[in-house]
Amino acid sequence: MLIFEKSRAGRQCSLFPPCDVELKTLPEGDRRKTELHLPELSETELSRHYTELSKKSRGVNDGFYPLGSCTMKYNPKVNDDMAGLEGFADIHPLQPESTVQGAMEVIQTIEKLLCEITGMDRLTVQPAAGAHGEFTGLMLIKAYHESRNDFKRDKIIIPDAAHGTNPASATMAGYKVVTIPSNERGLVDMEKLKAVLGDDVAGLMLTNPNTVGLFDDNILEITKLIHDCGGLNYYDGANLNAVMGVVRPGDMGFDVIHLNLHKTFSTPHGGGGPGSGVVGCKKLLADFLPSVLVEGEQDKHFVKPVKSIGDMKAFYGNFLVVVRALTYILTLGKEGIPEACKNAVLNANYMRYKLKDLYTMAYDEVCMHEFVMSLQDLKDKTGVSAMDIAKSLLDNGMHPPTMYFPLIVHEALMIEPTETESKETLDQAIEVFRKLYKEAEKNPEALHNAPVTTPVGRLDEVKAAREPVLRYQWT
Ligand SMILES: *Cc1c(COP(=O)(O)O)cnc(C)c1O
Repeated sequence: MLIFEKSRAGRQCSLFPPCDVELKTLPEGDRRKTELHLPELSETELSRHYTELSKKSRGVNDGFYPLGSCTMKYNPKVNDDMAGLEGFADIHPLQPESTVQGAMEVIQTIEKLLCEITGMDRLTVQPAAGAHGEFTGLMLIKAYHESRNDFKRDKIIIPDAAHGTNPASATMAGYKVVTIPSNERGLVDMEKLKAVLGDDVAGLMLTNPNTVGLFDDNILEITKLIHDCGGLNYYDGANLNAVMGVVRPGDMGFDVIHLNLHKTFSTPHGGGGPGSGVVGCKKLLADFLPSVLVEGEQDKHFVKPVKSIGDMKAFYGNFLVVVRALTYILTLGKEGIPEACKNAVLNANYMRYKLKDLYTMAYDEVCMHEFVMSLQDLKDKTGVSAMDIAKSLLDNGMHPPTMYFPLIVHEALMIEPTETESKETLDQAIEVFRKLYKEAEKNPEALHNAPVTTPVGRLDEVKAAREPVLRYQWT
């Protein structure tokens, strides 16, 4: 039942103090023409309503959540404690700089640490999400070429395994997207890459390890080929979990990157934000960064780089997400960051190894932080699809992995266990996956009907996207 349906006129749960200023009425033109409908509930009802809602949803605090490419790791609660400190939570972006030196130190410190982790020279915390960071990074690439009076570069090369946001961001930045097919190992096809190189290439966008969880061992040659034809290399670092503290994009030949603090650096995500898609770059792009960077030691101040592309978002981005991410990095420290990375890779390989005799691996080799299975064989044999298995997982207390992505793998399930899961949890998940495979062979019907234990069964996802009902219709 919706909160609006529970509403009863006159019920309330807040008591306002008596008004101590003179009441004024708004000018006629500024007043509502229609009645303002707000739900009216007692505190008991309100509390029960939200508790009930929270039980219907599933998150990292409820159980295993191996949603590939999304890095649903556990978000330590200490991050939220820090973000709640009044010196961070209660400040205003227009306060004088002298009164927010601590907050500025947070921005300065995370810039320094993330530059060290990624091998970049400067970093902005302004972009609000991964896709927003990609757009920012591409605008930097564009500003760079244009500053050299090089206007003929109108192409961005993107492998077909890329996250969908990559071609979307490149198109938004005004570029033509040149898609290159992956080779049989899911990696960049060197011959296909060489065939599209030329002086019209503005740059390459690459995820490494890529979206099938494999590290491209030709990476140095790839980035050099792009540089040799005058282009720049963009690194989609949304999931840095597989390399952080071990390998640096800057050392792989990348000039600009974005990171999703809301994936790798353990700030809550899903449900639409807020996120943070910080963008780091090498010196050659630093003059073009968005307009706020922190400079100074004793007396910190905000500066706008000389040839800045301008603001990508108001003020300093989603600052409290940055506070959470900094807390996470400082908690783990120099030893903990690479350890988390290695455990993420170990956990993925452990699950892959324990499932590969039953499920077909899309690429049967050592993976990084995630792996992709193709359920095409199972579907041909039994009629049970990746969707059926995913939905059945819900009845077994698990959030499904990412489905039908990347598009180059048929009936794909993409599993990213992350480092924060215990061996027991992984073993349990492996057992569930194995059980469902056997069930698919014996009783496929049961899997077509899953889930049966959730508040709702199979939803019409297309209808939900095409005809969203976002407002309650009062009668
Ligand atoms: C999640 C993700 C993105 C997009 O990040 P958003 O914050 O959702 O915009 C881009 N690339 C990859 C590889 C991702 O996994």
